[in-house]
Amino acid sequence: MKPLQCQSCGMMFPKEDVGTNRDNSPNEDFCYNCFQNGEFTDHHLTLHNLEIRLLEMAKLHNEISLEEAQQIIRVLPDLKRWRMNHI
Ligand SMILES: [Zn+2]
Repeated sequence: MKPLQCQSCGMMFPKEDVGTNRDNSPNEDFCYNCFQNGEFTDHHLTLHNLEIRLLEMAKLHNEISLEEAQQIIRVLPDLKRWRMNHI
């Protein structure tokens, strides 16, 4: 099964971790960390915050490699959540 890429944080996630719409149906665009009940969990998140968070995840927590973090950072502006901020 192909992992999904969250259109907010850019992380790959398994289908069990999909976000939820307001009617509790799954929303495969976003992971559960980012999107619950039809809303983003962190409304104040910016692209810049996200870049810092990804780099910290790579450096401090070893959840992802630095290369993965940089790769995600490169595609972030093309994700659905951020695309409209860059027109
Ligand atoms: Zn996410």
